[in-house]
Amino acid sequence: MGLSPKLLQVVGDELAIAWNDGSESYLKLTDLRRLCPCAGCAGERDLLGRLAKPPQAPLTSASFQISRTAPVGGYAVQIYWHDGHSDGLYPYAKLKEWGDDPPELPPLSAPTLLPTV
Ligand SMILES: [Zn+2]
Repeated sequence: MGLSPKLLQVVGDELAIAWNDGSESYLKLTDLRRLCPCAGCAGERDLLGRLAKPPQAPLTSASFQISRTAPVGGYAVQIYWHDGHSDGLYPYAKLKEWGDDPPELPPLSAPTLLPTV
């Protein structure tokens, strides 16, 4: 039995996850988006370990809102953001880890508008 969410719900500006082991994680949507693991956001390392990162469109407040989520392969969740971005597959193990121990955020590469609350 692997870790999987029983419930995954946006609450305010956070994604709340109730895990099947009884624990809960709360992840800020702004952090989640900045930690998007897709190749476009996180970059890809070549054989020499150099990080290649394509230019990104500036994030807007829509970039930090979730339209929907979809489970992928029993190990990850795909997050569809309001600005149309949906390439990131967030492994459950990562979400759990980030909830327990907030990660260092990647540097902002473009001027970012914080979401209006
Ligand atoms: Zn991405």
